[in-house]
Amino acid sequence: MIIIDGSEGEGGGQIVRNACALSLATGKPFRITNVRGKREKPGLMRQHVTAIEAACAIGGAICEGVAVGSSEIAFTPGRVVAGEYHFAVGSAGSTGLVFQTVLMPLLLTGGRSRLVLEGGTHNMLAPPFDFIARAFVPVLRRMGARIELRLIRHGFYPRGGGRIEVEIEPGTLTPIDCIDRGAPLSVSATALVAGLAYEIGKREIETVRKLLPDWPEDAFAVRQLPEEQGPGNALLLEAEFEHATEIVTGFGKLGVSAESLAKTAAQRMAGFLESDAFAGPYLADQLLLPFALTGGGSFTTVKPSQHARTAADIIERFTDQRWTFAQQPGGRHLVSRR
Ligand code: AMP
Repeated sequence: MIIIDGSEGEGGGQIVRNACALSLATGKPFRITNVRGKREKPGLMRQHVTAIEAACAIGGAICEGVAVGSSEIAFTPGRVVAGEYHFAVGSAGSTGLVFQTVLMPLLLTGGRSRLVLEGGTHNMLAPPFDFIARAFVPVLRRMGARIELRLIRHGFYPRGGGRIEVEIEPGTLTPIDCIDRGAPLSVSATALVAGLAYEIGKREIETVRKLLPDWPEDAFAVRQLPEEQGPGNALLLEAEFEHATEIVTGFGKLGVSAESLAKTAAQRMAGFLESDAFAGPYLADQLLLPFALTGGGSFTTVKPSQHARTAADIIERFTDQRWTFAQQPGGRHLVSRR
């Protein structure tokens, strides 16, 4: 039994999700104490409970201690079965995080699966649908995965009600090297506004336009979603390169002005554009699991986050793999298996 102190390293929900995926992939049981020990409200939240329940459902696993607020869980994996699954995350929890818990175990079965996920699609502190579909999944496709995703309905906190559908076709994964992102192809800035004033999106776009003056006029748009999908607002800044796409998201929140949210997002995008890394900070921590589960490969990234280092630590607990972050001349870091 692998024992993990959930307050170590990054100390959040990613430890729980990665441990579930790694346990299903390796067949090794685990126990986590001090679940989400470094978070303001420690213990499992609704979306973590759904992620663990989803892991149990696809993997014939048994997990003790799965309840909102629980600070200790013990997970015994079973056999992962490809198939049709439907998971609803109550209280607008992130569908993206549930997706990332079950994706690799399902891909590794080599079978056909269909997933319907309901809840939030554009949540703070989680990968929004666009990031998963256009930044994360394309890298897995390069490894050989055959995945199609559809956003049926947006879901924002606190109302939720979003829906995404995923098709996984049989395929074989092989390790790849993602060193250079290639030439820039296109950029876009889209403010999503649902059930809120159009003006909010307009102010976000105006702010980005000033801070990214080289972006062409037709890169900017405010997209009004059907009112019943709101209230909600997200600003998506996207930069597509030959081999990689980065999406920086600002999430609308009461008490944070459109200008300040847009400024933070634009500065983050400018930082990424100045680097020559393949992966931004979020993509890097999310790629570690699929790279490790295909047994190797490498990618470059900006300064590694605590999330990325913690993902590498959890991977080492379940596998004999040590993933390292080596700074290269010019500043980017190479993430590879020692
Ligand atoms: P945790 O904080 O441990 O629950 O993990 C959050 C996960 O969501 C990490 O894998 C992050 O990479 C991911 N994430 C958080 N914010 C974003 C964002 N704006 N875009 C993409 N991924 C994100």
